[in-house]
Order: sequence, then C-alpha cells, then structure tokens
Amino acid sequence: MDVYGIVGNPVGHSVSPPMQSAGFADREIDATYVTFEPAEAEIERAIDGAAALGIAGLNVTIPFKQDVFELVEADPLAARIGAVNTVAFPEEGPPQGYNTDAAGVTRSFEHHDVAIDGREAVVVGAGGAGRAAAFALADAGADVHIANRTVERAESLASEVDGAIAGGLDSLADAVPSADLLVNATSVGMEEDTTPVPAELLHDGLAVLDAVYTPRETRLLREADAAGATTIQGLWMLLFQGVEAFEIWTDADAPIEAMHDALREALN
Ligand code: NAP
Repeated sequence: MDVYGIVGNPVGHSVSPPMQSAGFADREIDATYVTFEPAEAEIERAIDGAAALGIAGLNVTIPFKQDVFELVEADPLAARIGAVNTVAFPEEGPPQGYNTDAAGVTRSFEHHDVAIDGREAVVVGAGGAGRAAAFALADAGADVHIANRTVERAESLASEVDGAIAGGLDSLADAVPSADLLVNATSVGMEEDTTPVPAELLHDGLAVLDAVYTPRETRLLREADAAGATTIQGLWMLLFQGVEAFEIWTDADAPIEAMHDALREALN
C-alpha cells in the first residue's frame, strides 16, 4: 500500500484526507492518506524521513510551503511562485516539488467555462495564494492587475509576473469595473463577514473566484452574485489543487466528481 499525506501545523482541520482518499478509492488505487504535524523546527527531518520511509507523496500546508520549497527540487512554476504544496518522491533522485494552487485557480475557471486567455484579471492579495494566482493567470494569457493592502508587496510580485501591474486596494476602483476575472487571494472574509472588494465595483461581466473556502459562501461571493457575476467558491480551488496533486502522483486522471463530493461533505 502506498502512503500519502499532508504536512502542516496545525493540520487536524484538513479536508485533504477525505478528498484524496475518495480519489484513491474511486480509482481502486491501494493507498492511504494521513496527516503529519511536525514541529516547525523539524520540517527538514520530516521531509528526509518521508523520503527514507518510502512515502509516495505529500501535500504541504501552512506554515511549511516556503520551507519545503527550499528542501526539494522545485519545478519551474513552483520556483517562480517560491512555494511548494505538493511533493513527489521518485525512486531515484531528490524529492520533486510542485505548486498546484496555481492549477487550482486556472482549473476552477475552466471548469466553470470561464475563458482566461486575453482577459483582464484582478488578483486581490500578494501572499502565497496571490502569487500562485498571478503567475497562473498570466501564464494562461490574462492581463493581470495585482491589488494588495501592502502595495510594496504587490509591486514586487508584479515585477516578476509577465505584463502585470500593481496597486494598493484603492486601485480596485479603477481595475474591477473593466475586469473579466477577479480572484480574492486574501484571507478577508474568513473570520468575519467582510469583503476586500466594494460591492459597487462588481458587475455582471465578472467571474469571481474566492480562495477563502470557510465559509463556503463569502460576503464577496454573495455580493458578486447579487451583481449578476459568475461566482466560484474556494471549494473549487481546493478541489483542483488536490486533483492536480493526485494526477502528479498517480499519472491517472483524477475522479473529479468523487473527490468533489467527498470535499463538499467534509466542508459541511
Ligand atoms: P498569506 O500568504 O498570509 O497572505 C495573506 C494575504 O491576505 C496578503 O495579501 C495580505 O495582505 C492579505 N490580507 C490579510 N488580512 C488582510 C486585511 N485585513 N485586509 C486586506 N488584506 C489582507 O496567506 P495565503 O496562503 O496567501 O492565503 C490567503 C487565503 O487564501 C487564505 O484564506 C487561505 O485559506 C486561502 N487559500 C485557499 C486555497 C484554496 O485551495 N481554496 C489555497 C491557498 C490559500 P498584506 O500583504 O498587506 O499583509
């Protein structure tokens, strides 16, 4: 039996175990998926130990995505993002690192029949999720505007992303009315019923993806829906980052419906 898992601290709340287990079961792959919660200072020993023990693959979550990036051979996209959320352990050679949050963004839009190529995209946030979204959307052909509370962080990210421009949150007033795509990659809306984007900027030409997945229906998505926009819950990004990881590990098409159903139930 192959052993997979997720490394984080804390990780008890993770919904990846039911989602990935449903994928393995549906594809009749003899595998188990468990949680690992090393102390923050132990992450290097944890990755070495996983390789030595023959662990087949790992997801990586807060606070380890940047640390693990330094410990594996990152693929070119993960290297640009500077963070790894998926590790594969080949039989020969070093552990391989990937960032599937990027595919989580693009595959969420594609699954909802939203085109990215040639469109104007606004990414709110310039942390880990914002970096993944900005590179993913630019690589898929969008013109990307990055708006972040700390404007220097947006500017620094925009300087790395092809053709991207940056501003503070006040730049949303100019960018959102003409945009086709909007991603909330901040944590705003998670703890309280707040939104990073004023409702009056939202319109029916927008497709809005909220990376926040608890609650499932954020204030941003409620207000976007009221404005006639297409809305995509963070659950989809979570699903497709997991789907992409499953496909990297197994070389099989992931059973999207089975994984989606398990995720939806786990988030209830
Ligand atoms: P992070 O690296 O800590 O970045 C946090 C971002 O949120 C920064 O841009 C930060 O701006 C901004 N922010 C925080 N509080 C704010 C506030 N009160 N007002 C305005 N901006 C604020 O976190 P992350 O890893 O990118 O995660 C961001 C969110 O995405 C989290 O809710 C996380 O759960 C979610 N996420 C979802 C998925 C998924 O699969 N659905 C995947 C990854 C992440 P500053 O730079 O100014 O601090």
